[in-house]
Amino acid sequence: MTDITKKSLTQIVKAIKNKEVSSTEVTSAFIKNIEKSKKLNAFITTCLDQALKKAKEFDKKQKLNLLLPGIPIAVKDLFCTKGVKTTAGSKMLENFIPTYESTITENLWSEGAFLLGKLNCDEYAMGSSNETSFYGNVVNPIEDKYVPGGSSGGSASALAADLTPTTIGTDTGGSIRQPASFTGTVGLKPTYGLCSRWGIVAFASSLDQAGPMTKTVEDCALMLESMAAFDKKDSTSIKKNKENYSKNLKDGIKGLKIGIPKEYRVENMPKEIDNLWENGKKILKDAGAKIIDISLSHTKYALPTYYIVAPAEASSNLARYDGVKYGYRSTKGSNLIEMYENTRSEGFGDEVKRRILIGTYVLSSGYYDAYYLKAQKVRKLIKEDFDRSFKDVDAILTPSTPSAAFKIGEKKDDPISMYLNDIFTVPANLAGIPAISVPSGRDKKGFPLGLQLIGKTLDEQKLLNIALAIEKRSVFKQSLKKWWEN
Ligand code: GLN
Repeated sequence: MTDITKKSLTQIVKAIKNKEVSSTEVTSAFIKNIEKSKKLNAFITTCLDQALKKAKEFDKKQKLNLLLPGIPIAVKDLFCTKGVKTTAGSKMLENFIPTYESTITENLWSEGAFLLGKLNCDEYAMGSSNETSFYGNVVNPIEDKYVPGGSSGGSASALAADLTPTTIGTDTGGSIRQPASFTGTVGLKPTYGLCSRWGIVAFASSLDQAGPMTKTVEDCALMLESMAAFDKKDSTSIKKNKENYSKNLKDGIKGLKIGIPKEYRVENMPKEIDNLWENGKKILKDAGAKIIDISLSHTKYALPTYYIVAPAEASSNLARYDGVKYGYRSTKGSNLIEMYENTRSEGFGDEVKRRILIGTYVLSSGYYDAYYLKAQKVRKLIKEDFDRSFKDVDAILTPSTPSAAFKIGEKKDDPISMYLNDIFTVPANLAGIPAISVPSGRDKKGFPLGLQLIGKTLDEQKLLNIALAIEKRSVFKQSLKKWWEN
């Protein structure tokens, strides 16, 4: 058989079900790639022996009627994994070994998958380039010296480099879609509440959502089907029947109405992004969809709103890291207060501290009304823009990011230009609606670019179908020289 690690998840599942390949063979092939990929720094922790053991156990029992039979999967290091170190990319959790499993990973394991390792990410998922990780930056397999995007940068890099057949990330403001766009992979942020947040290290709880990152749209449907389920342990989990996203996936989009929001044509947008968008419109039109111009008039407030709401919630969520209950504890200080202070100043990195400072500021009495409360009101207006538009259109098409992957270090010391990266992705988080990034073209350097489709609440199936139509008709094809292998 040709290199199994280059195949899509769906193809690997099929090959295992047809007994053309064993789980042990698949797992060994991915392990081989992982061992040669140190330069990418995609992993924080690997569980290679344990994975091989699980693969052998699977091959003995051969429970082939599951969705992910014998599939090894590496996951973002934000998902708590029982008995396996979970760091959230932070020094604060350098020695944290959870005693419980996140619901999402548990769901994957009960479909026959098992853990391959924990993937690098921005510290507490705060970042757009995977440069805020305590464990070092991740490199984009597309070319060295370039970021893979963030915060699920390790996930995107590992997937594109064939180190895992599929992966999962979290998306608070774009952390699945932006790295997917930067690495030529597919990334879906589901409707808020579709995938349980239980056991995921919290960043901004009203925005955080787990989702799949995959090589193809078909794989994305299969992964979502495996992950999404009501969870009584998450009070914001949506009670609904399970859906058969992969079986119902079809490339028939005739008659669907696709909205093009004029506010997403931002100032100084590179020509290649504009071309990508135009091409996306053409593809959908040729596939039988109707293109309609729409207006989402509060779009320009989305980024500032996000950068108030997210840090406010982060400052509250991160209050628990005080050196008392778990995580890092400083040995300096002569009393309890000093121990708290030293723990937090030594345990958190600069970006996390920046967010905590902004968050506590916008929540403090005297500023609460001016910032936090106002941001919540604007958030509602942004949601209403979408609600109004979805009366006229089935989905909205935009670019995923305002540029392709940028150089390591290029934006690191300029938070504003880093935050601007999220301009097209944060609105869907604020509105709680699903959005997917599909690789659809390249910039002039040949770097991947993604198109984003935004949908109505719980309309994931339609989004996947439209994404499939784009995938089938766009010229993008992933082909990487494995320069990182030793
Ligand atoms: N880049 C955004 C931020 O730094 C989004 C991060 C995310 O989605 N986790 O907040």
